[in-house]
Amino acid sequence: MKPIRWLSCLVAGAALLSPFCGAQAGAPQLKTGAPGYYRMMLGDFEITALSDGTVDLEMATLLTNTTAAKVKAALTRSFLKDPVETSVNGFLVNTGEKLILIDAGAGALFGPTLGKLAASLVAAGYQPEQVDEIYITHMHPDHVGGLSSGDKLAFSNAIVRADKREAAYWLSQANLDKAPVEDKAFFRGVLAAVNPYVSADRFKPFDGSTVLTPGIRALAARGHTVGHMVYVVENKGQRLVLWGDLMHVAAVQFADPAVTIRFDADSKAAAAQR
Ligand SMILES: [Zn+2]
Repeated sequence: MKPIRWLSCLVAGAALLSPFCGAQAGAPQLKTGAPGYYRMMLGDFEITALSDGTVDLEMATLLTNTTAAKVKAALTRSFLKDPVETSVNGFLVNTGEKLILIDAGAGALFGPTLGKLAASLVAAGYQPEQVDEIYITHMHPDHVGGLSSGDKLAFSNAIVRADKREAAYWLSQANLDKAPVEDKAFFRGVLAAVNPYVSADRFKPFDGSTVLTPGIRALAARGHTVGHMVYVVENKGQRLVLWGDLMHVAAVQFADPAVTIRFDADSKAAAAQR
């Protein structure tokens, strides 16, 4: 009988017909979200997108080579409001041979709404110490902050890889010293996140577009930063290109890729890459 009662509950207007269809009184509200990951297969590779959280960004102020009115109009067309709730993600690739993380989230560097990547990784069924290698798209704090917790490696067995131009720029004490006051915290955060791997001899920079492991290659996309990379993942004839900050606001920049953002080191080059 039970399935029939349930069925009658699902029919519009039928709820009143059954005494078994009332609210489940006393069930506590759980107030937790769904775990922050999404999984798919790419050939034999398992890909897991990991949420680091979201952050509200005032796009009418941040986007450049456009006007606030144009930005607002584009956002409205996509039913978005400014500030835009912006996702920060990392991607876990299990090749069957290696577990590779692409970008590490913000850690403690970007406020309380970010820094959830490690929790998402655990929810997705893995442990941080299982990660073999971490490939960094670029060294802005919301992409590297999650590498370390204090002075400890958050991924104790991982080798971290990034383009050598990116490393030379961000890990330079001289660049920190000459950076404008408002940018110094950026540099300090990056140094704190990456240096524990440098000290442990677990940081291995590479030179431009290059194969990093069978099925994953780095592709230079310089512009947003001096050593900006995207990663091309390929298996069994399927291809996925993982990018970070090649585009910041899809609702605006798909329609007009010439729109840039204040965080771009070289706006012209960043627009060309997009
Ligand atoms: Zn960035």
